Amino acid sequence: MPRYEYRCRTCGDTFELSRPMAESSAPAACPGGHDDTVKLLSTVAVGGTAAATAPAPSAGGGCCGGGCCG
Ligand SMILES: [Zn+2]
Repeated sequence: MPRYEYRCRTCGDTFELSRPMAESSAPAACPGGHDDTVKLLSTVAVGGTAAATAPAPSAGGGCCGGGCCG
């Protein structure tokens, strides 16, 4: 589930919430209970993104090509 960062305009605190993408723009109350918050642009850590960009170990073919697989 993606994490979103919010800032409270009442107390100035920033906080993160993990919530569905569909609710990313929904109102988020700060830990202090204030409702006047804004969503910040932040690094969205979606599970699986890093793995998707990394090459799969079996796709390279370097191991079996080098004879280390027997
Ligand atoms: Zn607050």
